[in-house]
Amino acid sequence: MIRAIVGANWGDEGKGKVTDMLAAQADIVIRFQGGANAGHTIINNYGKFALHLLPSGSFSSRAVNIIGNGVALNIPSLLKELKHVTEGGVPAPRLMISNRAQIVMPYHILFDQYEEERLSDKQFGSTKSGIAPFYSDKYAKIGFQVSELYDDAYMREKLESVLTVKNVILEHLYHKPTLSVDEIFAQLVEWRDAIKPYVADTVSYLYKAVQEDKMILLEGQLGSLKDPDFGIYPFTTSSSTLAGYGAVGAGLPPYEIKDIIAVTKAYSSAVGAGDFVSEIFGDQADELRRRGGDAGEFGATTGRPRRMGWFDCVATRYGCRVQGATQVVLTAIDVLSYLDEIPVCVGYEIDGQVTKSFPATVDLNRAKPVFETLPGWNKDVRGITDFRKLPEAAQKYVLFIEKELGVPIKMVSNGPRREEIIYR
Ligand code: GDP
Repeated sequence: MIRAIVGANWGDEGKGKVTDMLAAQADIVIRFQGGANAGHTIINNYGKFALHLLPSGSFSSRAVNIIGNGVALNIPSLLKELKHVTEGGVPAPRLMISNRAQIVMPYHILFDQYEEERLSDKQFGSTKSGIAPFYSDKYAKIGFQVSELYDDAYMREKLESVLTVKNVILEHLYHKPTLSVDEIFAQLVEWRDAIKPYVADTVSYLYKAVQEDKMILLEGQLGSLKDPDFGIYPFTTSSSTLAGYGAVGAGLPPYEIKDIIAVTKAYSSAVGAGDFVSEIFGDQADELRRRGGDAGEFGATTGRPRRMGWFDCVATRYGCRVQGATQVVLTAIDVLSYLDEIPVCVGYEIDGQVTKSFPATVDLNRAKPVFETLPGWNKDVRGITDFRKLPEAAQKYVLFIEKELGVPIKMVSNGPRREEIIYR
């Protein structure tokens, strides 16, 4: 059985905790897209960890963790993270890296920085971890697959060819120092040796695992609205954040993905630039950010303060649809407990017309939120494990959102800890 866990919004929905819960039951946990540019926070018996590249099964003695072919593999980040986890007392994770995964090259990170510098106030708000240059090179067919690192002659020849182009841009566009083939070659040799024990033909491994009906978890990074096709382009990421891409980014049959769990927070938050229709500002936003604590304040990878907003039914319904969600997890309802009433965005007004459909970016720029206000519950809801024990207003809030989304909310999360979950 293959199950995917993905974000319905802009990322930071609280996937980490839910993934950690599900990873505990999984035989295999796979990262299929993205890189070390985002991450989530996991709080478990070992402590609190920020994961960026390692799959969430890294805390389970049973799970095999796979870095799939669709991932942007940042080798130094991965090595650092392995150290962070093992130094935190966690037994060394069982890890496999696809021999078809491509690696983030040292110059991808440089190009990301230089390009943002060049764009100055027009920049995309990149995390500067090389993700956009990495995927550009991958699809321009000048990227480096892990398997290629073990063929010296091939690697050197390719480096010479690629660096010829990169150096022209460095010198004439960015006015920065050029790169030497020898230095990068030496760096790659060091990296390939460090990851060698983990490199494997994961496609064959997964083919067998599917035949044996293993419990496989596909772990998404970011969320629907950061998908380059369906999100708020160009303020998106550079690889698909959708469950459907899990089949491609891991090498699995699409029809085997049976359960798609979309995670959404009971309010909205976003990191980085781009349209965010239900955004709130000033004291109202500061208060929500502060109440959100870890869930509200800063992105797990970037440490950038999050932009805050009320729950957006238009964006989230669309986010669930493009994921093909079979169920929804609503997280962080405890954060809203301080409010007397809670606005929810139920429509977008564009040029005087109200729509419930999420528009493409040019129209989205002009959209204004239409809010409906629901009663708050004004009571701490942490520690509750039975849905019917929640204050009536909190139950109604969940049911209202479920109706708007058209997908069953099967789990409600009311605190950051793994056991703080209400099953419905
Ligand atoms: P991801 O990007 O979707 O993986 O987001 P994270 O997993 O990093 O979630 C953001 C933060 O929300 C983390 O600090 C979590 O501990 C916290 N969090 C998750 N679920 C809940 C919840 O139900 N209530 C509260 N208060 N915090 C939560």
